[in-house]
Amino acid sequence: MQGFDLSSPQFSAKKMKKDYQEKREKMVKDQIEARGVRDSKILEAMRKVPRHLFVPWNMKSYAYHDEPLPIGEGQTISQPYIVAYMSEVLRLKGNERILEIGTGSGYQAAILAEAGKEVFTMEIVKSLSLRAEKVLKKLEYENIYFKVGDGTYGWKEHAPYDAIMVTAAPVAVPEALREQLKVTGRMIVPVGSAFQELVLVIREKKKFKEKKLLPVRFVPLISTH
Ligand code: SAH
Repeated sequence: MQGFDLSSPQFSAKKMKKDYQEKREKMVKDQIEARGVRDSKILEAMRKVPRHLFVPWNMKSYAYHDEPLPIGEGQTISQPYIVAYMSEVLRLKGNERILEIGTGSGYQAAILAEAGKEVFTMEIVKSLSLRAEKVLKKLEYENIYFKVGDGTYGWKEHAPYDAIMVTAAPVAVPEALREQLKVTGRMIVPVGSAFQELVLVIREKKKFKEKKLLPVRFVPLISTH
């Protein structure tokens, strides 16, 4: 896919992590802390992960703006605040096995990999998965695992998960994802079509507790059945 230049000799993980540090600090302060995100692990991750490497090169100057951006294939990288908000809601302590549906650019996976133990991320569009994997490997993440496929069915081999994040909107919470959630585990998922809401699902011993959090707009979860 065009637009991303990871082969450049200037692409050293160390250097790229330092670039745009000031813009990241400002993004966290003005967009994320200002709106009430308090989890220090998440704030730290948002300060650290070089978001500009996850967007097409001609979008780099917008990477730290308060908005979602196109990443190709008709898909988008979410607004920074939404990434932080959804991550915080999972209440990660650092030792979690996390499932993400909708790898997209790989940016959200990086944030989750900073805050939890390991991330299993699924993407239905192969070219996006490959590109995300390339960026995340360059940044030396070793706790992120990739799979191309329909996330509606989850990734059973590694279940159960302490946390699940869905970053494309299904019309209802997928049953397989409920089943792959650990007891006491938390799942955050945008549900709906024209109107969508972020739903937090908490698995209790015998039932699932659900809480609607806020209205959002995500690309639809593509269904293969
Ligand atoms: N988390 C991403 C943003 C995701 S955009 C990031 O940080 O950049 C939503 C993504 O979900 C798109 O890349 C889309 O291709 C993917 N997607 C849509 N339907 C899917 C499905 N059924 N299974 C897995 N991925 C899917």
